[in-house]
Amino acid sequence: MSASASSEAVATNCQQRMADCGIRPTAQRVRIATLLLCEPQHLSAEQILASLRASGARVSKATVYNTLNLFASRGLIRQLSVDGTRAWFDSNVDAHYHFHDVSSGALIDVPVPDVEFSRLPPPPPGTEVEGIDLVIRLRKKAS
Ligand SMILES: [Zn+2]
Repeated sequence: MSASASSEAVATNCQQRMADCGIRPTAQRVRIATLLLCEPQHLSAEQILASLRASGARVSKATVYNTLNLFASRGLIRQLSVDGTRAWFDSNVDAHYHFHDVSSGALIDVPVPDVEFSRLPPPPPGTEVEGIDLVIRLRKKAS
């Protein structure tokens, strides 16, 4: 399979996933979705914007942010709260946790079965737990 054929396959797959999430596939949305969904990865809005512009797309920061927020609200991607300084977007929407390497900024997936919670507070009356976010911050060991 040639590189262009496989990127076309990725774009087609992205359009199907967008349709499944009820997102109208405009050219710009498909471009952003393809960039993010082509492989399992974590990207900040800034990285996505820089990558789009590097590939020659004329796209505004507001459009990228609005598109990412739309994707996240429809469940196409997952927005992560990692350190409060920037929004990260995860192409993997299946349940999982994260390691966050504070020095490099890298996010590494942690499978759910690798974590066990021994006790959680009862949710307030009238509510139930929808999900748990866990970010384990990493630093280099002092040698
Ligand atoms: Zn992840």
